Amino acid sequence: MAKSKSNKMIYFFSKSRTDGDGTMKSLLGGKGANLAAMTQIGLPVPPGFTITTEVCTHYYENGRKYPETLLSDMTKAVSWLEKETGKKFGDPKNPLLVSVRSGARDSMPGMMDTILNLGLNDDTTEGLKKATGNGRFAWDSYRRFLQMYGDVVMGVQKRHEHEHEPFDDVMDALKKEVKAKEDVDLTEEHLQELVKRFKKLIKERTGKAFPTDPMKQLEGAVGAVFSSWMNERAILYRQKYRIPDEWGTAVNVQSMVFGNMGNDCATGVAFTRDPATGENVFYGEYLVNAQGEDVVAGVRTPLKISDMAHDAEIGAAFKELNQVRKTLEKNFGDVQDFEFTIEKKKLYMLQTRHGKRTALAYVKIAHDMVKEKLMTPEHAIKSGDPEALNQLLQPIFDTVDYEKARKAGRLLATGLPAGPGAASGVVCFSAHKAEEWAKKGQHVVLARIETSPEDLRGMIASEGILTARGGVSSHAALVARQMGKVCVAGAGDIEIDYHKGTLKAKGVTLKEGDPISINGTTGEVFNGKIATADSELKQVLVSKKMKPKDSKVFQYYDFIMKLADKYRNLGIRTNADQPDQVENAIEFGAEGIGLCRTEHMFFEGDRIIAVRQMILAEKPEDRKKALAKLLPYQQKDFEGIFKALDGRPACIRLLDPPLHEFLPHSDNRKGQEEVAKQLKITVEQVEKLVAELHEFNPMLGFRGCRLGIVRPEISEMQARAIFQAAAAVMKSGVKVKPEVMVPLVGFKKELDLQVEIVHRVAREVMKETGKKFPYHVGTMIEIPRGCLTADEIAETAEFFSFGTNDLTQTALGMSRDDSNTFLPHYQELEIIKANPFASIDTTGVGQLMRIGVDKGRSKKSDLKIGICGEHGGDPSSVVFCHNIGLDYVSCSPFRVPIARLAAAQAALRNPRK
Ligand code: PEP
Ligand code: MG
Repeated sequence: MAKSKSNKMIYFFSKSRTDGDGTMKSLLGGKGANLAAMTQIGLPVPPGFTITTEVCTHYYENGRKYPETLLSDMTKAVSWLEKETGKKFGDPKNPLLVSVRSGARDSMPGMMDTILNLGLNDDTTEGLKKATGNGRFAWDSYRRFLQMYGDVVMGVQKRHEHEHEPFDDVMDALKKEVKAKEDVDLTEEHLQELVKRFKKLIKERTGKAFPTDPMKQLEGAVGAVFSSWMNERAILYRQKYRIPDEWGTAVNVQSMVFGNMGNDCATGVAFTRDPATGENVFYGEYLVNAQGEDVVAGVRTPLKISDMAHDAEIGAAFKELNQVRKTLEKNFGDVQDFEFTIEKKKLYMLQTRHGKRTALAYVKIAHDMVKEKLMTPEHAIKSGDPEALNQLLQPIFDTVDYEKARKAGRLLATGLPAGPGAASGVVCFSAHKAEEWAKKGQHVVLARIETSPEDLRGMIASEGILTARGGVSSHAALVARQMGKVCVAGAGDIEIDYHKGTLKAKGVTLKEGDPISINGTTGEVFNGKIATADSELKQVLVSKKMKPKDSKVFQYYDFIMKLADKYRNLGIRTNADQPDQVENAIEFGAEGIGLCRTEHMFFEGDRIIAVRQMILAEKPEDRKKALAKLLPYQQKDFEGIFKALDGRPACIRLLDPPLHEFLPHSDNRKGQEEVAKQLKITVEQVEKLVAELHEFNPMLGFRGCRLGIVRPEISEMQARAIFQAAAAVMKSGVKVKPEVMVPLVGFKKELDLQVEIVHRVAREVMKETGKKFPYHVGTMIEIPRGCLTADEIAETAEFFSFGTNDLTQTALGMSRDDSNTFLPHYQELEIIKANPFASIDTTGVGQLMRIGVDKGRSKKSDLKIGICGEHGGDPSSVVFCHNIGLDYVSCSPFRVPIARLAAAQAALRNPRK
């Protein structure tokens, strides 16, 4: 409890006294703070009080014990509430009844427990009957209370999966006995009998009697709500939405109002605008003569909120509701999702919160409400979920078809959602088949046990990519994201047999050519075809089938992006290796290339043959000959990229992957035979070469700058291709800004040796072409030694770019390709909170990055530092990069909008001096 200065544990809200306000969400929870805020602006809120989240934290920090004075404070609070309402706890004539609800800082809908009608016992139920003149209502309220209290507080629940809910069982038995079809067919007498039986059930199951003293009931209920913070559902929800355990929940105790006292009563939930489309229409539903959870629980079909206007009994309350809708938006500055009850024609507000919405609704609402001056531009940016912007880019499953597939049990497996969107096509198991079939106009889903750069062409040809192994920064995933491809990675439950040409899952066997559908947003894999459609945003920005002026979605999106650009400090670059990828990225707002992986170009057309000759060459002269063949290809590639960039910077990385990746592996005899033929050598020679290049730990082996150091001709050729391209493009009048990046540097001397080559080649090309092009040479910082000696490295490097894929795998000692076998388990056990290959492990890897930044800038205060690992497109990692003072993030083209929004949010939350 040390945190709060006053040790104040309870905050009141009522017309006469409201202690809290809307800003106090961390202390009062979202619900508590907004109840206070609604009360302050004069909305009809039943009075009550909020027990702070600090009490919850105290409870868990002290072996589930409450602060000493909590009970006496609660008693005082109840006395206050009695005065406010003119009712009394336990008073048979005019009983005070309350609801007890959880309320964390961020809403966690349905995750924690709620208890209604607290304060009822045999006497007060009779009192309620007298006060309302409605015996059935009173006894129904009592049995509901017993049911909720028995379940939540006293733990009377089903004991194993196959058992029915015990209270439901008792109720069903009675209904049978008295021949009642529905709950509403039970009379007051039946309900009295039911109450008896419920009490008996509680006694039998718990050995304890149901507490009749309302104060005791309250103690139990408050405890149960605090305990529900740690129930399985709530824990899981917090993991998914990264809500810290330490936040705790508040508890709201509020005087009851009833929506179930007759046909002039109702209860409902509503949004001030449509949360799916963003349309400015009143959206919601209600039930006449019903209580709280009935609407959500779906026991009766609710009516549309607009229908209420025509209701003879409560039509007047609708007018008031419509007014409330406006007041809420004006005061809370955002779309509100609220609950209300109408008791005997009178409207009461029970809660309000910012409404959760789809990405489409987000951009429309933010656009409209900023224009209507109802929302501040800052809130428009802060309230967006950057990751959700993906929804605007995805091809989508036709909703009806998708539902059909689900209902028909066609779900085969669920893997990691690695590249969002929906893809449907025929399954194929090799890259060349994928290409072949795609050429014939087939939609193909490439399914591989795992992918390597060898598969690239097949991946490009496919609608979607599915792998049985590999995590979110596996090759398949990063290439898919870069290309905006749909991808499900690491679907461990599918079994792919290349020899038999089959994919097995859930007892179903698919042969190559059978239809399959994957959802890269959810990770789902379906048997059979599901219809898809292209997103509007892609039609404007990528395929250009639509004009911006014809797409409202584009206009809303563009409004938000331009607004985000006003606030952000971080530059946004892209990871791209081809002109078309660069063009897409620029359309999405990229300001340059942060990483061009040159090896991806080696697989284009026939150049792989020259690459293999280069690998095969034993003598430097032979290697030079092979490299000379590659040079014009690479130069052309870079020319295309420089042109597409039109003066924006291009950070081009020298060759990085281990050489064996360019050869068919030992299990691919056919491929090896093909290489032997191409290179005019025997297949045994190819085999020998493959064996020689085999590495036990290729990620830690002969790769990165080590290649260029042992075989300097490679770096030389690449530097020459870059600079010749730069000179040629400059001649055509286009500006160029090449940045040559050396990978995997851990020693200053490694960089020195490579930089020497680059500078020499630059001088040569300038002399040969007569063009003086600007350029910089820098390094990736992607192994821990690079971070720790960043001051030394910065003496040579003109810029740094964090390669957080490799930095994560080397810092954690976890392979980025197969850690998926244990990472999900680690997340479940909370050893790690998020997948470190998707979201920067800020305490470990992040610390190395901080050291890298500090040491690097200690030598060169203006050292430009970026990030080009997959984390550059992850919102929370972007925030971290802002906070440690990076200059830019680089991510795949289709994640650029996400990074723009996340960077703007980071700047608004933590402004740079
Ligand atoms: C990295 O390691 O973060 C990186 C960008 O390089 P690659 O993924 O190509 O190893
Ligand atoms: Mg790397």
